[in-house]
Amino acid sequence: MPIFKPEELRQASSDVFQAAGAPKAEADLVADFLVRANLAGHDSHGVIRVPQYVGEIKAGHLVPGAPIQIVQETPSTALINGNWGFGQVIAKRATEIAIEKARAQKISIVNVYNSNHIGRLGDYPQMAAQQDMIGIIMVNAGGAGQSVAPFGGTAKRLATNPISIAVPTAGEVPLILDMATSVVAEGKVRIKRNRKQKTPDGWLIGIDGNPVNDPEALYANPPRAAILPLGGLTAGHKGYGLAFMIEILTGILARNGYSNEKASRISNGTVVIVIDVATFIPVEEFKRQVLDLIRYIKTSPCMPGVDEILVPGEPEYREEKKRLKKGIFVEDETWNQIKRLAEEFGVKSFISK
Ligand code: NAD
Repeated sequence: MPIFKPEELRQASSDVFQAAGAPKAEADLVADFLVRANLAGHDSHGVIRVPQYVGEIKAGHLVPGAPIQIVQETPSTALINGNWGFGQVIAKRATEIAIEKARAQKISIVNVYNSNHIGRLGDYPQMAAQQDMIGIIMVNAGGAGQSVAPFGGTAKRLATNPISIAVPTAGEVPLILDMATSVVAEGKVRIKRNRKQKTPDGWLIGIDGNPVNDPEALYANPPRAAILPLGGLTAGHKGYGLAFMIEILTGILARNGYSNEKASRISNGTVVIVIDVATFIPVEEFKRQVLDLIRYIKTSPCMPGVDEILVPGEPEYREEKKRLKKGIFVEDETWNQIKRLAEEFGVKSFISK
């Protein structure tokens, strides 16, 4: 059960990506985003993805160094064809373009299709928040990455269609809501599978409508289970509704492809929206009111067993502080998969753990 320093995981991931054919700048950037996800506590979007991305490169589904093409553009919008490059590279560039456009036009929307997995969403809108803008991002999975049942249903019909919103703040804690519209991200089920653990009640529903606790059931062919929409069996109509609308924004408006019987290639169709705060309210006043809101929310009494009310982004901020000190745990299964790739590519000076 190895524990790593962030720089060790960055180096190992980048080395493997470069050996698989990625240009160094891209390999470093993707490795950095993955390790940031580990630091934030979202191992589901950390280095566990290295073998997945390398597999996709081998299969020709992920194209390192692919050009990022703006195919349609106005002063406040852009439509980007990612040409199947690394999602992190494309999403970062799309966010930079959205920020530039919002600086000039006050609001912008940049849509992306043909992009590999972009990883943890929260880092992208936070780029806007650091520039005193509000960032909003959402993705689907090209119609092919189906893992979530519709409310009232038992079969996979939608992806986990996450959304993230970040706002500027004068406080120490970055305010980032970053969540799947399913009960959990699919990667969290993958983590349970790699750690040989059961999934908790309320995550998966069997095709026959019964609860399921075996993570393998999600990946069986044909699948024996699906993830429940956010809100689960009682309020899942809300998570399902959000996922449904995100599927339309990313899959149809952004032209990335939507859930259907024939969809076969997973792609993170991405919508990035950036809003310039100062267009509506002076930035300092916005930040002051945000801090006042946080203060008030935190005055709520806590439920039994809860020590403190947190705000969106706070658990990740705290986890990062901890992991920077104590290191990042990677389960044997994931680390062995990465090690095997390093051996296969003959990566020299690979860390041995
Ligand atoms: P989650 O259920 O842990 O929810 C995370 C969100 O809830 C964060 O904003 C966090 O700050 C907030 N939160 C958690 N506990 C809180 C508390 N006690 N008080 C206040 N706020 C709290 O995460 P998830 O939905 O499983 O998603 C995990 C990650 O997976 C995200 O980073 C997401 O971007 C990523 N994801 C990516 C894809 C993709 O295709 N690229 C798909 C799905 C999910």
